Amino acid sequence: MFASDKPVVIAGGGLGGLTAALALAQKGARVRVLEQAFQFGAIGYGIQLGPNVFKMFERLGIRQQTLDRVFRSTGLRMIDAFSGDTILHIPTDEAYEKRFGHPYAVIHRVDLHDVLLDACRKHSNVELTDSASVAGFEDLPDGVRVFYGDGQVIEGALLIGADGLRSGIRASLVGDGEPRAIGYAAHRTLLPMEDVPEHLRSSDVVLWSGPSMHIVHYPLRRGALFNLVAVFKTPRYDSRDNPEILKRELLETYSATHPHMRALLELMTVDRRWPITDRDPTRKWNSGHVCLLGDAAHPTSQSLAQGAGMAIEDGVYIASAIAENADDLPAALERYTRGRYLRTARVQLESRQLWEFYHFDDPIEIEVRNQQQSEMNTEDYYKCLNWLWSGI
Ligand SMILES: Cc1cc2nc3c(=O)[nH]c(=O)nc-3n(C[C@H](O)[C@H](O)[C@H](O)COP(=O)(O)OP(=O)(O)OC[C@H]3O[C@@H](n4cnc5c(N)ncnc54)[C@H](O)[C@@H]3O)c2cc1C
Repeated sequence: MFASDKPVVIAGGGLGGLTAALALAQKGARVRVLEQAFQFGAIGYGIQLGPNVFKMFERLGIRQQTLDRVFRSTGLRMIDAFSGDTILHIPTDEAYEKRFGHPYAVIHRVDLHDVLLDACRKHSNVELTDSASVAGFEDLPDGVRVFYGDGQVIEGALLIGADGLRSGIRASLVGDGEPRAIGYAAHRTLLPMEDVPEHLRSSDVVLWSGPSMHIVHYPLRRGALFNLVAVFKTPRYDSRDNPEILKRELLETYSATHPHMRALLELMTVDRRWPITDRDPTRKWNSGHVCLLGDAAHPTSQSLAQGAGMAIEDGVYIASAIAENADDLPAALERYTRGRYLRTARVQLESRQLWEFYHFDDPIEIEVRNQQQSEMNTEDYYKCLNWLWSGI
């Protein structure tokens, strides 16, 4: 399919960049992935995967390898942070899988990264280069010149910027500055399951919801690990204080919550704080032979747990767009942008709405929300999320 003898250059070997590399290689393109880190890897926390993402893995031929490493959660449960009452529960059982064609599951991010990395390494069309930070590019009439590392240069047919939230390539294409901090911070921790008392465990993905705060937890690695994330509003959202000070603030913030929630937070190791950031949707993902993918194009808050899911869908979609427009690569990138911006913008915007929904602090607003949820049945939730989970 691919006329150019130059490789497609991908900046960034995260979940989006590796998916694009594999999908393009499978369509016959030569791909060079430049990753700034000294080795290809991922930070070690959990990640939720909807059925739309497994649909992509099926197309890439890595569905089974991924399923071998997941924990199949039994449902999505939202609990009131003070009363401990369930606000909503969406089963992700066999009927769910039948309905959406694939399961809902959670995976250790390192395991998913390894599946993709392994498939890329086995493909002769993919070349992976670490310690290669992309510093700039020059769009040419018939391709792109990419500057990386200590003064190295490579000519590519295309440059895909899969370089994450603080993408340098986005800075050139969109120029909308740093992502906007929304005043919330996250702490993440992974525990051996045996350290978690029986009554605090669940096979659901659980979200405890309270005013300006929530926590999420679920098992990983066949239930051997417990993944716990605490998110709350604080003027010190980007504090780099020592872990003891950070932990004290965490415990104070949740001090009035349900005893189970407090017990969970006591278990956390707090070694760093992640500020939560946001960007507005844009359609400016491509110019000439250069485009954006994943968080570089459409970063989202994690309310819908679909940031990586969208990056993975992008990777599969862009390979098809290129394969189908191989004789006009800028047109292929335009087609990719047009085909993807609306769905990803919907994820960004609905994630924002959901963020509010999780964090209401007005008591009447909370009561109304809870009453509305009590009137919803499983089918209502499936219909609400059909646009997302049925995939592309
Ligand atoms: C707390 C939290 C929970 C989340 N939970 C979920 C979830 O459950 N489900 C889900 O789908 N998503 C989730 N997400 C979102 C998800 O992590 C991201 O959307 C996803 O990792 C984006 O993938 P990416 O490949 O676009 O970017 P990244 O994963 O950020 O990868 C970018 C890569 O580019 C490299 N890079 C950066 N600059 C350069 C450069 N100049 N040159 C070369 N390489 C460079 C980086 O080193 C990195 O390897 C969560 C996010 C957070 C913060």
